[in-house]
Amino acid sequence: MEMTTKYTDAFIKEMPKSDLHLHLDGSLRIPSLIQMAKKLNFELPSFTEEGLRELVFKDTYESLPDYLHGFQYTCSALRDLENIEQASYELAVDNQNEGVCYIEPRFAPQLLVDTENGLTMETVLEACYKGLERAKKEFNNRPDVINGSRPEFHYGIISCAMRKFGPKGYSPFYTRFFKSMEYSREMEVLKEGALQMVKAAVKIRDEKGIPIVGIDLAGQESGYPPGKFKEVYAYAHRNFMHKTVHAGEAYGAESIFQAITECHADRLGHGYYLFDENKIVDPNVTDKKKYLNDLITFVADKRTTIEVCLTSNLQTNPEIKSIKDHYFKEMLKNRMSVSICTDNRLVSNTTVSNEYKLALENFDIQPKHLKDIVAYGFKKSFYHGQYIEKRNWAKRVVKHFDEVAKKHGITDL
Ligand SMILES: [Zn+2]
Repeated sequence: MEMTTKYTDAFIKEMPKSDLHLHLDGSLRIPSLIQMAKKLNFELPSFTEEGLRELVFKDTYESLPDYLHGFQYTCSALRDLENIEQASYELAVDNQNEGVCYIEPRFAPQLLVDTENGLTMETVLEACYKGLERAKKEFNNRPDVINGSRPEFHYGIISCAMRKFGPKGYSPFYTRFFKSMEYSREMEVLKEGALQMVKAAVKIRDEKGIPIVGIDLAGQESGYPPGKFKEVYAYAHRNFMHKTVHAGEAYGAESIFQAITECHADRLGHGYYLFDENKIVDPNVTDKKKYLNDLITFVADKRTTIEVCLTSNLQTNPEIKSIKDHYFKEMLKNRMSVSICTDNRLVSNTTVSNEYKLALENFDIQPKHLKDIVAYGFKKSFYHGQYIEKRNWAKRVVKHFDEVAKKHGITDL
């Protein structure tokens, strides 16, 4: 393998980047979380940054539940409109500060809704928009952006449908459903929540022009295949909403198949088990090799983009012993459309630059291929606006990549 030492930290930081898969509730700043907990008067396991890093937001986790543990605190902090706006603003600024010029933060409004306190699906999504929009305006008014030496910053919001999300995760919104006779079954509760979410998302996009650009399906994958949410996705599909699905993160290739065939997925969150025939449990799949091969070919050919989150996969999947075992190498080998993402800046203790560094240090990625990967982060984004605007902006970003590469002595593009 050719060593890729030419990719310096300075180059990685300066090259234009995107993050198409980042959870707002997994990406808070720790000092802000502490300040928000004090403001809302709820308990944290520690009120210091070091304490929270030791007890909750670690570098390695024992299991997926261990990884998800911290979300109960971040979601509690975000059940407040001002806090949502602040967290969204800070998330955009943190990205801008490391050369990221496009983000698509995602979260499930259902987890934050508390109607008695003014938090509805719509107000919660709108608060996120306000924070992101403020950060965007500030950034795009900088002299180096106005004079064209840095690309503009843009964003879109992805609203999530939720699968099961742990015994403590039920928000006041879900608790209300569970208490009512009509929705005693969990799947119905989750689906009803997701339907209300997608309708609110489409409504405020159309009525207020708020850039809710797509929907996602998050939470515990096993036992909740994407097909169970197909009505939610059909509603989004009919209303020109883009679609991504957490699929193949903790469940086999059938989940990816359903995401594509039943949920019209434009992109896939993780897509990890697209390459593992041992994870297929559907008895109807008799020739597993052919099934996987057909699916890989289909995903690659349609350029269905896989949102790759290396650190997060290593933290939640004990089967991946070292980064070099990650199926990312198969994705690269098959020349699939991939985009490097963080998943959760706080919970995974990472940044976009760090994820690129990991990818470039551990896999053989030549400059031309790197440029393709970077470009997919813009071309396959759910950009809010006219296609011509998106195209011009993506071209501008790729041109900036060339300029930065040249500055850092990378010429074989
Ligand atoms: Zn995710």
